Amino acid sequence: MDGNGNRVAAIVFGPKYVIVVAGMNKVVRTAEDALVRARTVAAPFNQQRFKGKTPCTVTGVCGDCKSPDCICNQILTTRNCRPAGRIKVILVGESLGY
Ligand code: SF4
Repeated sequence: MDGNGNRVAAIVFGPKYVIVVAGMNKVVRTAEDALVRARTVAAPFNQQRFKGKTPCTVTGVCGDCKSPDCICNQILTTRNCRPAGRIKVILVGESLGY
């Protein structure tokens, strides 16, 4: 999930290789759980840094906004890596980021 799309764009196309480094706190059971986590944990925490004018900045809870300051504008699902091996995911055995 991304506000401007700059982080998700290169995952889809561009660089020859993409390396994702993520903490175990980002791992959930299903893709649906990932969306819930992104909207209810990561985005509200992240938005506190930006101090944008969104419901989560004020309440700490997602209000499913479409505000000009929304950071949940682009939602990327990659269901298959092509060419094979282009995207590598490195899971770090600790909590990293939001
Ligand atoms: S959709 Fe809006 S209110 Fe919800 S987490 Fe994203 S920025 Fe915050």
